[in-house]
Amino acid sequence: MRYCLCLFATALVCLIAAEPHQTVSVRGKLSVREGQPATVETADHKLVTLEGDNVTRKVLADDRLNGFEIEARGHFTSPDRFAIDPSHTHSLLVRQNGRLKLISYWCDICSIRAYTPGPCVCCQRETTLDLLDPDKP
Ligand SMILES: [Zn+2]
Repeated sequence: MRYCLCLFATALVCLIAAEPHQTVSVRGKLSVREGQPATVETADHKLVTLEGDNVTRKVLADDRLNGFEIEARGHFTSPDRFAIDPSHTHSLLVRQNGRLKLISYWCDICSIRAYTPGPCVCCQRETTLDLLDPDKP
């Protein structure tokens, strides 16, 4: 009996310890606000603040993405805060015409693609938002 309880307790500790880093997805409507971290409003009207690496934070500051339906992979750091996985894992997608798309930025002049908004690394012109099909890189 004692042995059984011990095993049970160990399993419980494992579950609790593993939970904060469990990879989950969050879906909802993105809200980009100047000077404040972006939030996503889930289907059940819960407002979740989004965190991420440098690239993700730059993308989440782009007001052209305001109002998009997004799907982000990562984990909750608290009930209303969500840390998005590293951007190179394509952890942040937006929904367009019912399909999930990768966020990228394109310079027509130089044919250079970037994954953060801002001026083109080559000609310094503002890049345009270009949503990509993740199946066709
Ligand atoms: Zn350019």
